[in-house]
Amino acid sequence: MKISRRSFVRTSAVAGAGLLMSQSTPQKLFGSIVKSSGLITVSTWENTLKSTWRTFELLQSGKNSLDAIEAGIMVAEDDPTNTTVGYGGFPDEDGIVTLDASIMDWNGNAGSVAAVENIRHVISLARSVMQTTKHVMLVGEGAKKFALANNFKEEDLLTEKSRAAWEEWKGKNIKNNNRVSPNNHDTIGLLAIDRDGNMSGGVSTSGMAWKIHGRVGDSPIIGAALFVDNEVGGAVATGNGEWVMRSCGCFLIVEKMREGYSPEEACKIAIERVNKLNKNGEDIQVGYVALRKDGVMGAHSLYPDFSYCLADKNGNKSYKSAFYRTK
Ligand code: ASP
Repeated sequence: MKISRRSFVRTSAVAGAGLLMSQSTPQKLFGSIVKSSGLITVSTWENTLKSTWRTFELLQSGKNSLDAIEAGIMVAEDDPTNTTVGYGGFPDEDGIVTLDASIMDWNGNAGSVAAVENIRHVISLARSVMQTTKHVMLVGEGAKKFALANNFKEEDLLTEKSRAAWEEWKGKNIKNNNRVSPNNHDTIGLLAIDRDGNMSGGVSTSGMAWKIHGRVGDSPIIGAALFVDNEVGGAVATGNGEWVMRSCGCFLIVEKMREGYSPEEACKIAIERVNKLNKNGEDIQVGYVALRKDGVMGAHSLYPDFSYCLADKNGNKSYKSAFYRTK
């Protein structure tokens, strides 16, 4: 269904209801623009520049956004120095690497996998779920069985480095096991717009290091860590997934963009919800990156030090995100 221009534009009544942050001014350009001004890809965290570059190269070569984001995320899944994604991702409390991923295309199709062991390219597995089954999500043993039946390679994803880190944690914290630290988890979330103006997005992670075996984060939950609506835009999340799930972050962001909020304002509103939920001031971090259909992007995080990458006709660079508060 086509959305009318009117429905994109935020009304003064909404602003008056206090949802609007102080510095916001309506960006009314949305609604009249239905196509991006060019090829663009954005991703969470500054260590994903190789992924945005790969994605952008493929967009330039004429690949659609789904092929491009899958290939871009695979670069991070292959990188053993990235200890929060794919091969080399930090394991759970039992020393087992379990991966979560999700993917969405411009037709509103979605696929995801959760708590998958011994399969490196879970983004591709999520894509297979989306494209070859009637389901959206497969988990654990079932997801692995599906992977093996579809010729995915089974392999040990633990590297020397990730095993040593786990052993160190186990030795130190076995009694008082403080699992949640701002420094032991991240996710690659990536959004792209292709030549036809179509958007796709994907997310891949090993989740929180030292998590309880069986824990699933926000990354494979459609609407939490990923949402794409080709008429509006998309959003991806990183950080403490429990808080992203509790606030349905990415769906909220896309809906706020639909109302006319800019991508950054929409991310900020979602962060404000997280902040409100975090009544006891737990030491958490959440970061969102949003990309609007017209190619305008924005990001916001709860605390400083969140970063993102952006590749477009002006180059491939990383940036510090705006943030909501200091600790
Ligand atoms: N959102 C991920 C999770 O909770 C971790 C992260 O992105 O920092 O599994």
